[in-house]
Amino acid sequence: MNILVTGGCGYIGSHFVKFLQQNSDHKVIVFDNLSRGHREAINNDVDFEKIDLLNPSEIEIGLSKYKIDAVVHFAAFAYVGESVEDPGLYYTNNVTGSINLIKAINKAGIKKFIFSSTCSLYGNPNQVPISESEPTKPINPYAQTKLMIEKVLADFDLSHNLKYAALRYFNAAGADFEGEIGESHDPEPHLIPIVLQTALGKREHIKIFGDDYDTPDGTCIRDYIHVYDLADAHLKALEYLVRGENSDFFNLGTGDGNSVKELIDKAREVTGKEIKSVIAERRAGDPAVLVADNKKAKNILGWNPKYNLDDIIKSAWNWHQNQKY
Ligand code: UDP
Repeated sequence: MNILVTGGCGYIGSHFVKFLQQNSDHKVIVFDNLSRGHREAINNDVDFEKIDLLNPSEIEIGLSKYKIDAVVHFAAFAYVGESVEDPGLYYTNNVTGSINLIKAINKAGIKKFIFSSTCSLYGNPNQVPISESEPTKPINPYAQTKLMIEKVLADFDLSHNLKYAALRYFNAAGADFEGEIGESHDPEPHLIPIVLQTALGKREHIKIFGDDYDTPDGTCIRDYIHVYDLADAHLKALEYLVRGENSDFFNLGTGDGNSVKELIDKAREVTGKEIKSVIAERRAGDPAVLVADNKKAKNILGWNPKYNLDDIIKSAWNWHQNQKY
């Protein structure tokens, strides 16, 4: 198949591109506007088009150059805090951009679509582990944009038979095991890169946002899932759609949670560095525990995440020590 990957130069997108190159015969075409992605994150075997999804004619011209069979749509802004401060930026980029893309691929007759969604659309869940039957109650604009596009996709399925899988990620983490690509955000809001930058002496300490949560050690618990496990789920979701199955949404997490303190301890063990931490105020909007019930993805997609926290921190440490972009 010819697979269009939007946002293929971003963190998760670039790992998916590399995963496809190594684990399939599919041809990859990347559309990315490089506003936050890195051209160096994909190699020259990939067809690359610098395309902005906010410009419908650019999308149409790009699509007309290839015979695309399926689309995997990563391109989006993904900082919760930024989305609260600047909702307009998020609604424009993530919602308008996605609708432009969906309209263009629909016009081009493309019927398979994989969408990067998020567990944050469950807000503060009633039940943990979180299954797909948990009600969606986004508590920030970023999560709203993802839920809106899931609804847009459902409507395009009804009217145009566009088949999609919405993949609701828990905490994407880790890096390529060969150290070629990894996570590089500026500014960096995520825990693991911040912890490893502290190990490298780029930061004095890591601030633990709250140690008075109702968890065993008082710090927040998250389900960290390796980017290559996510990549594998995307390929399995594509195969699921190729089999002619119905549109659906899936939680992607390991099913195991780790606290902020556990994660810092694991990073100390892997890096052999002290990694100073200080307790700080809670960060607004952080639920205490987010852990996936991943049975649906396992049963229906045949997906089985294989990497643990040790693999995540080791691969990320490998990348951060020799970060290429
Ligand atoms: N966190 C922290 N200090 C930091 C960054 C994050 O204590 O400097 C905590 C954050 O409160 C959350 C967890 O680490 O409980 C994971 O945060 P991250 O931003 O990586 O992902 P999120 O769960 O918000 O998507």
